[in-house]
Amino acid sequence: MSKIVRCREVGVDCDFEARGETEQEVLQKCAEHAKSAHGMDQIPTELAAQGRAAIHEEAPQTAASTT
Ligand SMILES: [Zn+2]
Repeated sequence: MSKIVRCREVGVDCDFEARGETEQEVLQKCAEHAKSAHGMDQIPTELAAQGRAAIHEEAPQTAASTT
């Protein structure tokens, strides 16, 4: 399962989704996206913290988790 965060979840009106295996990977993609799409050379500490807090596990597409 991968971790995911959406721009929208940190209050940005944008449909971008950052996905990764680890929190760090997600944050890395967020940083790249923020730079290229939103012109943020550096993510403000507050926004970074908000983004980190908003990262969550992506819901599995199939609900076959009955063991
Ligand atoms: Zn965005």
